Amino acid sequence: MGYEDLTFKKETVFLVTGGAGFIGSNLCIALLEKGYKVKCLDNLSTGLQSNVDLFKNNENCTFIKGDIRHFETCLSACENVDYVLHQAAWGSVPRSIEMPLLYDEINVKGTLNMLEAARQNSVKKFVYASSSSVYGDEPTLPKKEGREGSLLSPYAITKKVNEEYAKIYTSLYNLDTYGLRYFNVFGKRQDPNGAYAAVIPKFIKQLLNEEQPVINGDGSQSRDFTYIENVIEANLKACKATHAAAGKAYNIAYGGRSYLLDTYKVLCRILEKDIDPKFGLEREGDIKHSNADITMAKQYLDYNPDWDFERGIRAAIEWYKKEL
Ligand code: NAD
Repeated sequence: MGYEDLTFKKETVFLVTGGAGFIGSNLCIALLEKGYKVKCLDNLSTGLQSNVDLFKNNENCTFIKGDIRHFETCLSACENVDYVLHQAAWGSVPRSIEMPLLYDEINVKGTLNMLEAARQNSVKKFVYASSSSVYGDEPTLPKKEGREGSLLSPYAITKKVNEEYAKIYTSLYNLDTYGLRYFNVFGKRQDPNGAYAAVIPKFIKQLLNEEQPVINGDGSQSRDFTYIENVIEANLKACKATHAAAGKAYNIAYGGRSYLLDTYKVLCRILEKDIDPKFGLEREGDIKHSNADITMAKQYLDYNPDWDFERGIRAAIEWYKKEL
């Protein structure tokens, strides 16, 4: 269970793209705490300087302020790197509907640049963030790899294209790639601010400020909310995976199912708040129900998440209470 016992050689170098963001900064800190060398590449577009400030002075860390849209930047960032953990992208389904061209440039071209740079530098493994959005309108639950529907947003298209390119880089160029289809990740350092913030940090912040959160739709949508520690485990385990497991994308979730209205009630209970939510319009491009079958990641990556929703949400709330 977990990743505590997982070890790499001390001189191992990881490149984390998107390291100023939520998932990337958690990865950088986890790796630096284990004593490995970390290069962090981020253009600080949605990520925060304050996240980088937490680790940039660590002697094993190199921060590169740069853009994955520039191939030369990617190429030099990949020099002497053993493992790439590629997280840099623009998230948010609604924002991608507003700005499809930009999403293509950053998420598709940027990822292709990273794949090519990793190949040219003979990186050992290329682990990258995909998304549960690739399941599109496929109604069958739980979501299972190989049973995807029609895509519902430009964001989902970018993630699906990433998977296709990664597959080709494994089959044609022998670069071991592992896609991680994250399902609604939450935890410390997830940004609660802005129009495109994820629901959990947004609701926690609003409840802490005695504000009334808005639930899009009637709250009957469900999600497989996944605590950040499970995502760190998946990334590190993918670095240890076999060549036979490469060229595929895996569901990374806890394997549970929370209805949004129930999730809201859990937050109110733990935060000891008695605030009724408002109900707004359903969001375009959203998947109604999303919960994961994680059998494939268990089998091929030895992924064995040990943070269930309740344990994770308590830890996340503790962090927001201290930091907000
Ligand atoms: P985030 O916005 O907190 O982090 C993304 C980071 O990438 C930011 O620091 C940003 O500055 C950086 N970035 C963006 N464009 C860049 C560019 N052109 N060059 C260099 N850096 C750039 O998002 P996150 O929640 O940490 O997500 C990380 C990855 O996981 C993304 O690929 C996202 O699509 C994927 N993902 C996240 C979730 C989730 O629930 N958080 C779910 C599914 C998939």
